Parts: sequence; structure tokens; C-alpha cells
Amino acid sequence: MMFNTHSHLQDSVFDGKRDELIQDVKQLGMKVLLVGYTPEMNRAAIALAEQHDHFVVAVGIHPNHADDWEPQLQIVRELARHEKVVAIGECGLDYHWDTVDKHTQQAAFVAQLELATELQLPIVVHMRKAMEDTYAILSSTYQGPGVMHCYSGDAEYAKKFIELGLHLGIGGPVTFKNATELQSIVATTDLRHLLVETDDPYLAPTPFRGQQNIVTHVQYVIEHIALIKQLDVATVTKATTTNAMQVFGGES
Ligand SMILES: [Zn+2]
Repeated sequence: MMFNTHSHLQDSVFDGKRDELIQDVKQLGMKVLLVGYTPEMNRAAIALAEQHDHFVVAVGIHPNHADDWEPQLQIVRELARHEKVVAIGECGLDYHWDTVDKHTQQAAFVAQLELATELQLPIVVHMRKAMEDTYAILSSTYQGPGVMHCYSGDAEYAKKFIELGLHLGIGGPVTFKNATELQSIVATTDLRHLLVETDDPYLAPTPFRGQQNIVTHVQYVIEHIALIKQLDVATVTKATTTNAMQVFGGES
């Protein structure tokens, strides 16, 4: 059984195709973490998970939507009590888009780490062009499990995040020809520290690069990890699912 640890299947871009995708998820016996990022998408993820056993949910405030994080945090706190919510996120820092200033992003991130600690939930971290600050905040604020979703940092920091007890989320970019650093991180990192994900509708793996990504494409990520690590697909599937269960709970 595969465990896709980062999907936005609740997003409105999938309206009209969602039922078909859910059928595919069920057919594959996949487990999926639906990740929220705004109040609306947090609620939509929960609504979807209420209908289907295959889904669990992370609720959080994405750094690019963190302008009014204080009222949002109240909503996240309430939603986090729902039985299908197993994590806080995605939260983190994104210095690529300058829609929200750094200090506001940092305050929202710290507040969500404190909430995760209080509720004893793991975290889903979004990090883009903010490796040092993300590490500094995590290492001083948070001691617990979680995932560096779609890890895009370097090899040195990969080790440092793992030392903090976090997993590396590996997604579609691992299949890209030019992703040599990420591929070498995957090659040299013990499988027990890796999780698999899609981040659909974004970051479709090769051979779908540039197209809308879908939840079941996690298969291509698993296949590519197997290729890099010279393991069979079943071994990678089983290990990454076991890891995901350790972080987010559930039974295989
Ligand atoms: Zn995401």
C-alpha cells in the first residue's frame, strides 16, 4: 500500500475529476494526507476525508497566505480537534514569493509549531528559498515528528533536518533530469527517513512534467526512488508507508 503524504485533491481545480481520482485511489488501496493551506482548503480537506477512509488531513496556514494568520490560527486550532486531522500544516517559510513579509511568515510558522507541540501533532513544513531561517526556527522551537515537504534544500541541511527528527518528503522533482542534488540526497539517505508525495496539482513527475499533477502519480516518485537506490518498488512502497504511519499514525 502506498501512502501519499502530500496531496491537494480537495482543491477546486479538481472539481469534475475528483470522483474519478478517488476511485483510482481506492483501487490502488492508497492512503493520502490531504494538506490544507487556507481556511477554505482546510475545511474542504476535512469534508473530503469525512467521506472516505483513505484520507487523513493536515490543517494549517501556508506562508503565502499568512497575512492574517492570527484569526486563521483560531480556526486551525478548532479544526485540529476533528478526528481525521493528524497533522498541522502546511506551515513554513517561502521567500520565493514576496506576497507576505518575512517577519509575518516567521510569526505564523512559530505559532503553528507551538500549536503542534501543544496538540502533540506532527508538522508538514513548506520551505522555499528559506533553508537557514526554516532550520533556525525549527531547531529552536520544535521537537517532534514531521516532514520537510517536497524537500528542496541541500545535502548538508538534509542531514540537519533529519537530526531534528524530521522526514524528507520526496515528490515529482526527484524525477527531473536536472535534479542531481536531490537525487544524490535520495541515494545517500537511509530509506527510513524518506516519505513520498505528489503535491498535486503542482510538480508533476516525468513524463508528465508541466501538466496538472494528480494524486496517483506518487507511483512514479516511488519508482524513481527505487531506481536511484537500486531497490525494488515493493520495498520502497512498504518502507515509505511504514515511515508515514510512524509520523502520521494509522495501521497498514
Ligand atoms: Zn502543498
